Amino acid sequence: MDKLRAEKRVNELRDLLHRANVAYYQQAAPFISDRDFDMALAELAQLEDEHDLSDPDSPTRRVGGMPSGAFPAVEHPIPMLSLDNTYNDDELKAFDRRVSDILGHNDYTYAAELKFDGASVRLRYEEATLTLGATRGDGNNGDDITANIRTIRDIPLSLKTNSMEVLEVRGEAYMEKEAFIRLNEHREAEGLQPFANPRNSTAGSLKMQDPREVARRPIRFFAFDLLTETPVAGRTHREKLEALRLMGFPVCQFTRFCTSIDDVLIVIREWESMRRELPYDTDGVVIKVNEEKFHDELGTTSKFPRWAIAFKFEAEQAVTTLESVTLQVGRLGKITPVAELKPVLLAGTTVKRASLHNEDEIIRKDIRAGDTVIIEKAGEIIPQVVSVVNRENKERGLPFKMPSSCPACGEVLIRLEDEADWRCINPQCPPQIRERIKHFASRDAMDIDGLGEAIIDLLIEENLISNYADLYLLEKEQLIPLERMAEKSAENLIRSIEMSKMRTLDRILFGLGIRFVGKTVSKDLAASFNSIDELMEANEESLTCISSIGPKIAQSVVVHFNKKENRELIQRLKDAGLSFESAKTVTVSQKLSGMKIVITGTLPAMTRNEAREMIEKHGGSVTSSVSKQTDFLLAGDSPGSKYDKAVKLGVEILDENRFRERIGI
Ligand SMILES: [Zn+2]
Repeated sequence: MDKLRAEKRVNELRDLLHRANVAYYQQAAPFISDRDFDMALAELAQLEDEHDLSDPDSPTRRVGGMPSGAFPAVEHPIPMLSLDNTYNDDELKAFDRRVSDILGHNDYTYAAELKFDGASVRLRYEEATLTLGATRGDGNNGDDITANIRTIRDIPLSLKTNSMEVLEVRGEAYMEKEAFIRLNEHREAEGLQPFANPRNSTAGSLKMQDPREVARRPIRFFAFDLLTETPVAGRTHREKLEALRLMGFPVCQFTRFCTSIDDVLIVIREWESMRRELPYDTDGVVIKVNEEKFHDELGTTSKFPRWAIAFKFEAEQAVTTLESVTLQVGRLGKITPVAELKPVLLAGTTVKRASLHNEDEIIRKDIRAGDTVIIEKAGEIIPQVVSVVNRENKERGLPFKMPSSCPACGEVLIRLEDEADWRCINPQCPPQIRERIKHFASRDAMDIDGLGEAIIDLLIEENLISNYADLYLLEKEQLIPLERMAEKSAENLIRSIEMSKMRTLDRILFGLGIRFVGKTVSKDLAASFNSIDELMEANEESLTCISSIGPKIAQSVVVHFNKKENRELIQRLKDAGLSFESAKTVTVSQKLSGMKIVITGTLPAMTRNEAREMIEKHGGSVTSSVSKQTDFLLAGDSPGSKYDKAVKLGVEILDENRFRERIGI
């Protein structure tokens, strides 16, 4: 591209990205998808770089349009008090007695709500429009994080009410357990330290400097209180929750209204037993006097309101003895220290081992063999050692020290400067070979039934396999003579291996065991490339255009496919008959065959990705900018400059309905 054309394109992209930022942050009406935004931003950065067109005002310099630096402090006009905690029934009954003593009657009821393990936030609405979002801070002063709050989709930017009054809404930002696990998977893929629990990751996410990053974090919100300037006489908490719901706030369905503290206790028992099945973490129940008129009468202590209390559930922790620390070698050579424990019951299962993460963690917590330790299980995460109970214990072993060589193969261990883990870099290290094959055969990868750890060990021992491609050369006759392998099981194993040839590209990619490429990243890669050949030719720049792929993942993918031995393995898998084509290229009709289509604006009934998929399924392709070669523009609400350009060039414009008619759906 010559400089003049590059300049023109740079201006186009800057204009688009500026408008996209304004639409996203100020008008809350995004007109392009995150993916399109990221692609445009990447293209702009590349052009600026190649043609020396940098500009301090470019969107590449001001991601999200937000200034960096600390957040401004904001004072809470009504303090955000924390709640008094109780852990047992007697204390809760004592709370109830205090309430009735102060009021001098029993003419009140209770609201019981689940307590969320997240971060409390305060929202301010003026003329039904969100004007402020703040953290709790110390209860009197918090951080003004409005720009970040605006990215949380559960929080309405304007209320479904015509109230002109100033309203304050309080609630909890939280993360669902599954979303949290996915987030950590991505963090590990980026070489970042995973978050300890959903609460930490929520609080950390809310305080990030770049709202675009916050927008990618799966933060949810439940509203639990409404404060109005003019008090409403005789109002109850129940009515406030109903009002919040009508304004468009998510309100947790687990809210009950009870006439006595005994009824509250029944609700607590019920929720305590179902808490593990909930999609989010809860650490207790909040009990509030339902009638607002009694709140003033009850008042507050210096720290807590007297009209509310939190009943905390028993933590999912257990105490046991750490017998020894062993080292595990992962499939990528990572050395993980593991605590071998005296078996103990925790959250319904017997736990014998717990993760100790890495050397630094063990030293920081000063964990040694012989210690009495507290272990904890949070959500679906594997148990971990939280702390040492008794350091005065005379039976304590010596402080932990990482050996200098691999416990399995003797190779000298290395630790890169920006990493917490030690690694064995010998590709022939036996546990690594075994773990790679195990990973390839695992349920989320090739799902080879009957190929368990013991069989893999046996096959390696007998020199029948030394990598996953060797699996496809196995014959029944080689298996039958093996120990514990009858004719029937040999037949079954060969059939399972045969069946695995039908797995889709994303699962094969996951199975290859590329560093940083987990389940979700594999799906994203498979969805973005038509075949493994395309992926193998991709460079780091084009990989980072995919919104979930950062530079670390991109580099790792490129490095993996550049290695001769890896290319050979893939060729051998291809020869065995595995399909390395992406499933998304399956076309259902040729109605849009060869057509170049551009999408703009918000479509009423489908996302842009769905529209893209639909177009590809019918033989068409989606391009990013309108030109004379464009066959038609699919336009939704608030279309951008593409619309004007299509009009100017006389390109046909279809809305969603006419587009559906065209492809017959
Ligand atoms: Zn080794």
